[in-house]
Amino acid sequence: MDLQSFHRESIEDREGFWAEQANLIHWHKPFERVLDYSNPPFTRWFVGGETNLCYNAIDRHLASQADKPALIYVSTETGEERTYSFAQLHQEVMSMAAIMLEQGVGRGDRVLLYMPMIPEAVFAMYACARIGAIHSVVFGGFASHSLASRIDDATPRMIVSADAGSRAGKVVPYKHLLDEAIELAGNKPQKVLMVDRGLAPMRRIHGRDLDYAQLRDRHRQAQVPVTWLESNEISYTLYTSGTTGKPKGVQRDVGGYAVALAASMKHIYCGNPGETYFSSSDIGWVVGHSYIVYGPLLAGMATIVYEGTPVRPDAGILWKLVEQYKVTVMFSAPTAIRVLKKQDPAYLSAHDTSSLRALFLAGEPLDEPTARWISEGLGRPIIDNYWQTETGWPILTVAHGVEKTPTRLGSPGMPMYGYDVRLLHEQTGEEVGANEKGVVAIVPPLPPGCMQTVWGDDKRFVDTYFSSIPGRMVYSTFDWGVRDDDGYYFILGRTDDVINVAGHRLGTREIEESISSHAAVAECAVVGVADQLKGQVAVAFAVLKDPAPYEASQTRLALEGEVMKVVDQQLGAIARPARVHFVTLLPKTRSGKVLRRAIQALCERRDPGDLTTIEDPSALEQVRAALAG
Ligand code: AMP
Repeated sequence: MDLQSFHRESIEDREGFWAEQANLIHWHKPFERVLDYSNPPFTRWFVGGETNLCYNAIDRHLASQADKPALIYVSTETGEERTYSFAQLHQEVMSMAAIMLEQGVGRGDRVLLYMPMIPEAVFAMYACARIGAIHSVVFGGFASHSLASRIDDATPRMIVSADAGSRAGKVVPYKHLLDEAIELAGNKPQKVLMVDRGLAPMRRIHGRDLDYAQLRDRHRQAQVPVTWLESNEISYTLYTSGTTGKPKGVQRDVGGYAVALAASMKHIYCGNPGETYFSSSDIGWVVGHSYIVYGPLLAGMATIVYEGTPVRPDAGILWKLVEQYKVTVMFSAPTAIRVLKKQDPAYLSAHDTSSLRALFLAGEPLDEPTARWISEGLGRPIIDNYWQTETGWPILTVAHGVEKTPTRLGSPGMPMYGYDVRLLHEQTGEEVGANEKGVVAIVPPLPPGCMQTVWGDDKRFVDTYFSSIPGRMVYSTFDWGVRDDDGYYFILGRTDDVINVAGHRLGTREIEESISSHAAVAECAVVGVADQLKGQVAVAFAVLKDPAPYEASQTRLALEGEVMKVVDQQLGAIARPARVHFVTLLPKTRSGKVLRRAIQALCERRDPGDLTTIEDPSALEQVRAALAG
């Protein structure tokens, strides 16, 4: 079947289409209804059906491939390299589940993970899935304030963490950040399970902190049966940044997610049982959830969990792993490829990558020169895919499992089955024509696998995602897009104040709040500015309460460093602005709204556009002067 017909069928006969896809997973109890859309925009898939993500990803494969690799762990940071078979992974997950149960974690309880890329993180996620606990993974690069706000929102019964991560050969201790975050949080977890990697000393808190190695020893042989969950129970929440300072907990179900991932493994990624999938993402992001932890194993593939950078010990490491583990499907981010592009191209051909069928890239725009460079260098199809934490799997791409549609440079592809994608005029809500810019929107019901709601806040779900296009209850991606005459889409950037640094989504508001917490700062504006390597970087403009003590360039420079440090400590180094400029006023509208778009345009040496609403034009002059200085 061609992709267009496949897509049409998925929209015109949603129930028939997804009922068929649902056969890709095991149901303990069959569902009674494929779709319940009686309370728009809330969508319930496979109502009444009972299943389990852990069972489908691990137990189900025990009969045919118990001794085949399931989880391959490689750390170029510590030099560890271990492979767990499906049987071994099954046991590790049951041991972890037994530890959680013993500590009183049960169905529906939240378990927050603040972990580096180690197998125990995957054990913990699957242990939650097995017993019906809800995991909430917080990226290990976030610091104490980010972590505290997520702890407060998720109110976890348990936190699982480790002494440290390691990045580019440098140990990054976690425990003090975690202790600080728990100190800051209003809701304190009862138990903290610590994996001690022996990388950094830890202060243990008596009665609260538990030692994983000790407990694992005790539960080495534990048998923990699967808890069958109704399809619409919650599998996890994952926080993502938006336009407010408060991150949203993207909430996902069990059955819909399992079906969506299994279907994507078949139609989009084309992975087969017994093969190896390698995603160089991190479990702290949605790609890690969908295509390190769950997707590959659902398809009976082995997954590589990689702790390290693309350039250590040398820029051939990713391809060396492809060769060594005969990787057939690989997933990475444009930033990683741009990093490699700066290195000797000989690394691309130094290893035998012939096992690879395709390299998928996502998370940020894939620029044409990078796409061309990697495509020519690797001699394999490069497939861009566009999606969001909210959707859990690609919205736009090509599906070679359905049809070998050619890719087009600069375009992530076409709407995937299940997504009724439209490009809408921002103000009128009307559909725009080919080659016209519009907001990328999805007509609900959203397909299986997409977010159910914002954790604990149904109203915010509706208000944020379904209320921005006038007169229409459609899901907004908050991305601009355009479609060419042949139906290929192109993504043109965000419509809101979210920025994308090296594939990591950050809210400018969160960074602004952090900068404003510095005692010398009165207010500030943060914008995303185009960057050759990272796609975008954050640049800040701050107004000081009293500029007098900071007149000298030396003291200003010191203050800039201090402000950056505050962001580092509160949010983490990924949120640190590349520059902090000091001005005496910010460009604002007469109603007091900061003109971030105009600031951004000046930073990128573009025309700032319509400025009729500006309160004081001299503010823009200050931005110009700061950039020139
Ligand atoms: P996240 O939820 O962190 O995955 O970020 C999602 C956002 O990243 C999207 O709304 C886009 O702005 C951007 N994005 C993700 N994938 C792509 C892509 N393939 N091309 C262009 N932008 C992308």
